[in-house]
Amino acid sequence: MHDAGLPAGVTMTSLDAGGARQELKEVLGLTGAEISSNQMAPDAAVPFVHRHRQNEEIYLVRRGSGQFWLDGRIINLIPGDCLRVAPETSRCLRAGPDGLDYLCIQVAAGSLQAWTREDGYLTDEQPVWA
Ligand code: ZN
Repeated sequence: MHDAGLPAGVTMTSLDAGGARQELKEVLGLTGAEISSNQMAPDAAVPFVHRHRQNEEIYLVRRGSGQFWLDGRIINLIPGDCLRVAPETSRCLRAGPDGLDYLCIQVAAGSLQAWTREDGYLTDEQPVWA
């Protein structure tokens, strides 16, 4: 965890700080989401199928390849793929021969109330590079 010079309310780590799986909720003190960074070895497979009670999951494929098993259908994965999986969808993953690196963001389905311009607002402050 980086700690030098961060203002109150800001936490920071590196996606490369963990091992095969890094969960950021505790490290960053997240309050509305869980984000995990996952590196699956070549041809590795998650040994279980799961669903969620209330959280949707957003999967962001960073490197490698693999397959998603979603309610019995196979989806091939390549870098750049982004998927939203509803809580009730059954899911399982396996990596391709080059492994599979992905981020998974869990948030309560239906919890987003405002975003971007509805939630963010401008201030009069200026960064040093302005
Ligand atoms: Zn899950």
